[in-house]
Amino acid sequence: MKKISIALIGIGKIARDQHLPAIAADPRFELVACASRNATVEGVRNYPTLDALLEAEPGIEAVSLSAPPLPRFDQARLALSAGKHVMLEKPPGACLSEVGALDEMARAAGLTLFTSWHSRHALGVEAARTWLATQDIRHVHVRWKEDVRRWHPGQAWIWEPGGLGVFDPGINALSIVTRILPREVALASSTLKVPANKHMPIAADLELRDTAGVRVQVEFDWRHGPQELWEIEVRTADGTLLLSQGGNRLTIDEREVALGAVHEYPSLYSHWHDLIRRSERDVDARPLTLVADAFLLGKRETVEAFVE
Ligand code: NAP
Repeated sequence: MKKISIALIGIGKIARDQHLPAIAADPRFELVACASRNATVEGVRNYPTLDALLEAEPGIEAVSLSAPPLPRFDQARLALSAGKHVMLEKPPGACLSEVGALDEMARAAGLTLFTSWHSRHALGVEAARTWLATQDIRHVHVRWKEDVRRWHPGQAWIWEPGGLGVFDPGINALSIVTRILPREVALASSTLKVPANKHMPIAADLELRDTAGVRVQVEFDWRHGPQELWEIEVRTADGTLLLSQGGNRLTIDEREVALGAVHEYPSLYSHWHDLIRRSERDVDARPLTLVADAFLLGKRETVEAFVE
């Protein structure tokens, strides 16, 4: 079958760590070009902007966007206007209205828009979802804590409006929660801890309820270390499920569950390929909705200034 020709836009940490290796390993895609203001990728044609790339490369079928959320809306708009299928890194927008607008553009043009959530493709997530589907769930506790200096060095955008602060990693946990729990969840309350010199929170505590009233307690913290803690514990009438290591390890009552071997980004690109071939969209803004609600209902506490 003919390869899908793609371009990758915004060559930074996640593009180099994950997107480029995942694309290179998938024979169904051909990376033709990249666009980045300050970076280039060997072996493909490079452009400083997406406009220049679209002008020079009319044959490209699909565009994967891995810049931070704020500039991505304009990039996605341009790519869809030019008739390209689009994959968005997480979060799919700097705000919710962007996601709805892009979804409508893609629908009207018959293009594939994929709001990717890489953590949903972690090894244990589907097995957790399957087990929980038949369980009587009593309580959920999310602990998603890491050292911001280790995971986001020099990323000034993350502290600006639209950068999400601690919700940048925290939204990964919410993407898993909204995938594995059998019922929808809604925000009940939130506390946002914002450094005196920053716009976005360095820590946050959320309380959610599912539609049966089950409590989902969420703790996000960027002041944690040296070992990161990315885990979701679900207590049920029959036992306790623990998804740890960002969703890549699963135990039920402390017994290890054997998992598959296809990792997050290869699985993301495989899913995007299938969506394009089936002419379908996959747009799910629920994790971003919870983040927006956390800001809407958020009680703001000012904490110690953060200096990197
Ligand atoms: P990053 O390295 O700071 O940024 C990616 C690249 O985007 C930058 O190197 C920059 O390249 C370009 N860019 C930055 N600001 C721009 C602007 N205003 N306009 C146009 N291009 C701009 O960030 P990242 O860590 O890769 O994160 C990017 C996205 O991936 C975020 O949404 C993040 O949540 C997600 N993500 C990150 C990780 C991670 O571990 N870092 C993991 C999963 C997902 P040029 O200067 O060359 O244009």
